[in-house]
Amino acid sequence: MTDFDQPSPSTEIHTDLLIFGGGIAGLYLLKLLNNLGYDCVLIENNELGGGQTLQSQGIIHGGLKYALGGNLNAESDAIKEMPERWRKLLNDEETVKLSHTNVISKTQHMWSTGKFTSKFTSFFASKLLRGRIEKLKKDQMPTLFQASQFKGSVYKLTDLVVDTPSLIQNLCADVDHRILKGNAIEFERTDDNVTTSRVTLADGKAVNIHHQGVIFSAGAGNEKLAEMAQVTGAPMQRRPLHMVMVKHALPYPLFAHGVGSGSKPRITITSHQTEDGKLVWYLGGDIAENGVERDQESQIAEGKKELASLFPWLDFSNAEWGTFHIDRAEPRQHGLSKPDCAHAHLENNVIVTWPTKLTLAPDLGDRVLALIKQQGIEPSSSAGDLSNFPKATIATPKWESLF
Ligand SMILES: Cc1cc2nc3c(=O)[nH]c(=O)nc-3n(C[C@H](O)[C@H](O)[C@H](O)COP(=O)(O)OP(=O)(O)OC[C@H]3O[C@@H](n4cnc5c(N)ncnc54)[C@H](O)[C@@H]3O)c2cc1C
Repeated sequence: MTDFDQPSPSTEIHTDLLIFGGGIAGLYLLKLLNNLGYDCVLIENNELGGGQTLQSQGIIHGGLKYALGGNLNAESDAIKEMPERWRKLLNDEETVKLSHTNVISKTQHMWSTGKFTSKFTSFFASKLLRGRIEKLKKDQMPTLFQASQFKGSVYKLTDLVVDTPSLIQNLCADVDHRILKGNAIEFERTDDNVTTSRVTLADGKAVNIHHQGVIFSAGAGNEKLAEMAQVTGAPMQRRPLHMVMVKHALPYPLFAHGVGSGSKPRITITSHQTEDGKLVWYLGGDIAENGVERDQESQIAEGKKELASLFPWLDFSNAEWGTFHIDRAEPRQHGLSKPDCAHAHLENNVIVTWPTKLTLAPDLGDRVLALIKQQGIEPSSSAGDLSNFPKATIATPKWESLF
């Protein structure tokens, strides 16, 4: 007899779709499906946003930085449309309405310390990028680059940057009573479909959740969930990163990709205001990818060296430094390459998802909705009043918790 067969008293919940994982993927899907009339319940086993989402840099980009890193024409169509799509979400012009999400930068910049190579400048000037990238004159540059010591060029991209905590709050608003804290313990199948998920809630009580479909959107947690549910067609890859944060009192919010002396982008910087009135520069890109094997001290030393070489006129001597490790969780690709669109795999009535980028959440929504329709799942259940069940709360962003 398994735990699932134990005759212990448990509550029965009936819903259309059960979602596991409360990062951008699960919360976006919950909001989308709820607004379309589906009855949904989301189970989070830790804190909302506490996986990759609140540790992301929040850049809603059109894929240009990836195109620059390799084949200059390699952007996917899906990602190219995302900044415009997000502007609609932020203006409440889509089913998911995000007008309460703060945009912390309306643009992302790209700068070089010297001259961009002719390969770059002709790409920037090409028809392909018309309207998406603009070369700035000195007085249009972010203040930091207006210093006389800066001799390079700066371009403005149409990408935007969102404040991820306000994004998570916005997604949870109105559906927070549907977000329970708990852990899946077993999946039961009827005629190949997973029809019941047994979950232990944070208060120790067991619930049997009966559903038409189940969605795994648990980031790195999908691997374990898929194994438990015997879903075999959605292998996962992890791409490890060692991110760096520097907290300082300099008056320079910066949202930019640095391309060094004009080759591959080498650093991506976003800026986050802290509750004590300081600014955290969040450093990603090459430094994070190449620093995985470094210990914290060496990674901080690398960060200091990088900023000293990029901004020799800035004084970081009073800054505080911190680093942390995090994996990107994605569908497995040939040679661990970066996927360039959202991924949704359907196996019987189980959908396994990875957005692969925050940016691609709307693309993920489209794909999952198409699979739900393909399955013939229609709104028909009601989970009823869930107010007495334990709820998952929102995680603290790293720029507040690391220092
Ligand atoms: C350092 C970093 C920077 C990034 N920057 C950007 C960027 O600037 N722009 C961009 O577009 N993308 C960026 N990304 C990618 C983006 O953050 C991710 O693709 C996206 O956040 C993944 O969302 P998710 O909901 O799939 O997973 P996650 O955010 O990891 O959420 C998964 C959730 O599932 C929960 N969970 C796990 N197991 C279970 C379980 N068994 N049951 C229930 N819940 C479970 C976790 O606790 C977590 O809350 C970045 C990623 C990283 C790591």
